[in-house]
Amino acid sequence: MRSGFGCDDCGSPAVRLPAILHDEAPIQCDRCGCTLMAWGAFKRRVEAEAPPEGGPAVDLIRAPGLAEAAAT
Ligand SMILES: [Zn+2]
Repeated sequence: MRSGFGCDDCGSPAVRLPAILHDEAPIQCDRCGCTLMAWGAFKRRVEAEAPPEGGPAVDLIRAPGLAEAAAT
């Protein structure tokens, strides 16, 4: 299991993202096309379940407190 996420209707973990991402944009199931939740809620759910890879991790590395902790 990769994310623990699945469509309530069909169980598919695949989602269809809106062309323009904003917190209120609806995320749709890629299999049945039903609206799952808003992008903002989906994003928070994914971030809560999986440690971010890429972008957000860079911010953590740049955080002064963490940099000092890594240097010691
Ligand atoms: Zn579905």
